[in-house]
Amino acid sequence: MHGYPERLQPKMMLRKAECLVLLGRLQEASQTISDLESSFAAKPTLAASQFQILQRTLCRLKMKIQKKENLTETVSAALTKAFEDMDLREENKQISSASASVSLCTDPFKGRYLIATKDILPGELLVKEDAFVSVLNPAEVLPLHLGLESKWDTRVTNGDLYCHRCLKRSLAPVPCDGCSYAKYCSQECMQQAWDLYHNIECSLGALLLTLGVFCHVALRSTLLARFEDAGEVTRKLCGDISNKDTRLPESKNLVQTLSYDLGGESEKNGKTVETPIPGCDINGKYENNYYAVCNLLPHTENHSAEYKFLCALSISALCRQLEAASPQALMTGLTSSKLKAAMAPVLCPESSIWGVAMLRHMLQLQCNAQAITAIQQTGSKENIITDSRQVRLATGIFPVVSLLNHSCSPNTSMSFVSTVATVRASQHIGKGQEILHCYGPHESRMGVAERQQKLRSQYFFDCTCPACQHGKHRTTAEPRWEAFCCCSCRALIQGDEVLSCGNASCTESVSRDHLVSRLQDLQQQVGIARKLLRNGKLERAIQQLLGCQHDAESFLSAEHSVVGEIEDDLAQAYAALGDWQKSAAHLQKSLRVVEVRHGPSSVEMGHELFKLAQIFFNGFAVPEALNTIRKAEKVLLVHYGPGNDEIQELQKMKSCLLDLPPIPGGPSL
Ligand SMILES: [Zn+2]
Ligand SMILES: [Zn+2]
Ligand SMILES: [Zn+2]
Ligand SMILES: [Zn+2]
Repeated sequence: MHGYPERLQPKMMLRKAECLVLLGRLQEASQTISDLESSFAAKPTLAASQFQILQRTLCRLKMKIQKKENLTETVSAALTKAFEDMDLREENKQISSASASVSLCTDPFKGRYLIATKDILPGELLVKEDAFVSVLNPAEVLPLHLGLESKWDTRVTNGDLYCHRCLKRSLAPVPCDGCSYAKYCSQECMQQAWDLYHNIECSLGALLLTLGVFCHVALRSTLLARFEDAGEVTRKLCGDISNKDTRLPESKNLVQTLSYDLGGESEKNGKTVETPIPGCDINGKYENNYYAVCNLLPHTENHSAEYKFLCALSISALCRQLEAASPQALMTGLTSSKLKAAMAPVLCPESSIWGVAMLRHMLQLQCNAQAITAIQQTGSKENIITDSRQVRLATGIFPVVSLLNHSCSPNTSMSFVSTVATVRASQHIGKGQEILHCYGPHESRMGVAERQQKLRSQYFFDCTCPACQHGKHRTTAEPRWEAFCCCSCRALIQGDEVLSCGNASCTESVSRDHLVSRLQDLQQQVGIARKLLRNGKLERAIQQLLGCQHDAESFLSAEHSVVGEIEDDLAQAYAALGDWQKSAAHLQKSLRVVEVRHGPSSVEMGHELFKLAQIFFNGFAVPEALNTIRKAEKVLLVHYGPGNDEIQELQKMKSCLLDLPPIPGGPSL
């Protein structure tokens, strides 16, 4: 366009083609190459020798394109496409935010639950729901150090790293002018948060932090309710609740209001409209809205008196503060005058109705709160392998996700991107089977007794999932990742107070107390090694870890979780030293432990494979790296879908490796 000499144009086009290949815009690259070739055929401008060089370069470039095309088509593209097809293209007509492959059922024992309406493949997206409400968990101190001297408190909390509205990670947050506690990723998020709820919450900050996150979620839910269908909410908060027994003493009114089942109300009033399933509208549709939130069970009869008292006290403290603020304060967020008119009777004279609604939400939260988690990279800059851990970012309410029942060995996997939860099938789910999700006590993390106890005390039910039933009948004491082994023959040892060797020809026995105290000592030693590792004392960390490994071998099963952790730390230390071979060897051992404990297609396995891929990648072990990347990708796609950061990183690693010229006889692990 700007008069570049014509005889140099082939050079320019070649550059263009190379750039396009690097950018992965393969079709355009091919087009540029064929343009170049045809312009040559029409007007040969180069000397023969130059022409040959160009020909060779073009040939190499074409091969590169072909290789990339094959790869993206066979592996990533095929996989990614398969997962994109599973995106919620066909939304469920009965339940918003859910796939058409599920349907909502109800029965007196299970309550509401979801079943598969057709065979579901692993990785299929079943629910993709934005939180009705979410509140960032305050003050969880993260294990990050910013490299500053400890003269100041440089500990970082979630509240410093994530937007208080959308939960996106942001390194240069915009703080609220009023409180500077709430921080946002952008001016827009700040404005939205202000309009929706922060105009009221801002002055209550200190009180909300004291009362805790449940109380905060309860308040924010009712604040958000103002923006829902005004008539509906007025009916819910003002109509249904206070019409019932307005004249009764407040205490009685409150108890009744909290206990009654909102869903059954329409029948009691003798109305003709009857909603078949609680939380659904008159057309039988279940949506992510305030009405559905109100219908989550508060389990009033199950909570202890102490807990109920504490909730009531917290809410009444909050109400006092709200009343102290002018009633107009509650209105300022409302922009539409129509809404203002509709809200007026609810908000102004009857702040006690707000209290009732908030108390109901607070009681619902013990069973219905959903922790919003994020995967956080914990590796410091020097570590080339990133380690990741799951952190609790926020607490939210997801009315559709709340429809899922619990299993200790669930058939789904949940992940979050900002405030959106996605639930994917983690295994094949047959038509008619229930869609199950784990509330926390997973069989690979806890024993049966502990799980049962936890579910009973927090969720008020006895788990009868297959893992629990199987666990009750099984006589073997521990799973292999908690098992001890015989010090003389290495067979597993079992028993309660005294453990004896499983090998018939061996008479070794040892008391459990002794083993437990040895394990504690070992864990302490591992702790020392970790500290050395963190402080960059790599050689000493390795010495310490090898000692731990030796000790572990003498009394722990080869698949004990502590053995896995030691191997993982060793891999970390060798990687930091740049010894990729040793690092990979140790990580492969850790991988075996993870596989035994969590299963070959678990998300834990995916993260571990991701680490191994990084090691092979950094060690230029091309075939091993490609193989591991493929495995990691396959596992992670099932749990997270194609948009995930780790998957994108893997794909970048892969295309980088494929650009490498093959090194004949080069270093390989
Ligand atoms: Zn934001
Ligand atoms: Zn503020
Ligand atoms: Zn169970
Ligand atoms: Zn033995």
